[in-house]
Amino acid sequence: MDCIFCKIIAGTIPSKKLYEDDRAFAFADIDPKAPVHVLIVPKKHIPSLAEAESGDEALLGHLQLVAKQLAAEHNLSNGYRTVLNSGEEAGQTVFHLHLHLIGGRQMNWPPG
Ligand code: AMP
Ligand code: ZN
Repeated sequence: MDCIFCKIIAGTIPSKKLYEDDRAFAFADIDPKAPVHVLIVPKKHIPSLAEAESGDEALLGHLQLVAKQLAAEHNLSNGYRTVLNSGEEAGQTVFHLHLHLIGGRQMNWPPG
């Protein structure tokens, strides 16, 4: 499949891997927007949240709990943000669903 994140999961494109289990994979964002910027992706290829199904409920929750664990490992005790961009107008550029874990600096609200 011609998907950059599927290739990262498979190891055919290199990444800085930070976490892996049977359902999820996490790696450092190549263009970090904060001191900590991790992408958490399901191993299952779901193009975007708009294409997730009711059977994906536990998987989507699992990604959030992986983010929580990685936030603790990166000592983000003052707070952090998880972001899921769905669709072009939201700024999604890679169409394999992914959760951004961003932290290590003061966040602004609302996001741009
Ligand atoms: P989004 O704009 O929400 O689709 O996020 C896509 C993210 O993937 C961006 O933050 C990119 O910097 C990141 N990205 C794209 N290619 C790579 C790559 N090869 N390795 C790591 N991160 C990547
Ligand atoms: Zn994919």
